[in-house]
Amino acid sequence: MHETDMTKALILTVKDWYDSQLEKPKIEKIHLLVGEFTCVEPVSLKFAFEAQASNTFLENVELVIKEKPLIAFCHHCQREYRPEIGIQYACPDCNCPMEDIRSGRELKIERLEYSSNY
Ligand SMILES: [Zn+2]
Repeated sequence: MHETDMTKALILTVKDWYDSQLEKPKIEKIHLLVGEFTCVEPVSLKFAFEAQASNTFLENVELVIKEKPLIAFCHHCQREYRPEIGIQYACPDCNCPMEDIRSGRELKIERLEYSSNY
């Protein structure tokens, strides 16, 4: 399952950061940017995260997911367009195949919300 691997990578990234902090902060929220074109289902990702985070330092941390739309750029027309996912990956004007993706493939931590633990 795609989302399970994503979640493992996410948790490892946050853990690296957490381990490097001297004063262990209390993480409250993880803000994620998820591109529309990553095929990651936000609901499944949240579910996988909750399952894997339980009984770890990330227990009860909320995953906040912000989706980024798929936007491509047509070099022929010199303009951006929104491909229709699963229907048409080509420029609606000149029909050139989608070659340049400007956004929609990101899967990254935007920021962490935490408070000090004392
Ligand atoms: Zn075009």
